Amino acid sequence: MTNTNESDEGAPRVPVVCPDCETTSRVPLSELADAIDRHNEQLHDGDDVAAVDPDIADRIADLAATDLGLLEGDQ
Ligand SMILES: [Zn+2]
Repeated sequence: MTNTNESDEGAPRVPVVCPDCETTSRVPLSELADAIDRHNEQLHDGDDVAAVDPDIADRIADLAATDLGLLEGDQ
């Protein structure tokens, strides 16, 4: 069940690169694992082909921390 929420402009989007398909797609951080799993399962028999763009992989932890921080700060 995909629910694209265009109004969620503040959500960090992460580039997912697939060298086999020669594609790059930007997915919201909250859907990152699902998007990668789905792509690899549907197109690559579950092999880990598609992955987060290595150039920004280091920043994912930062983005996730910021995301969590915002959610928790609202309590
Ligand atoms: Zn692919």
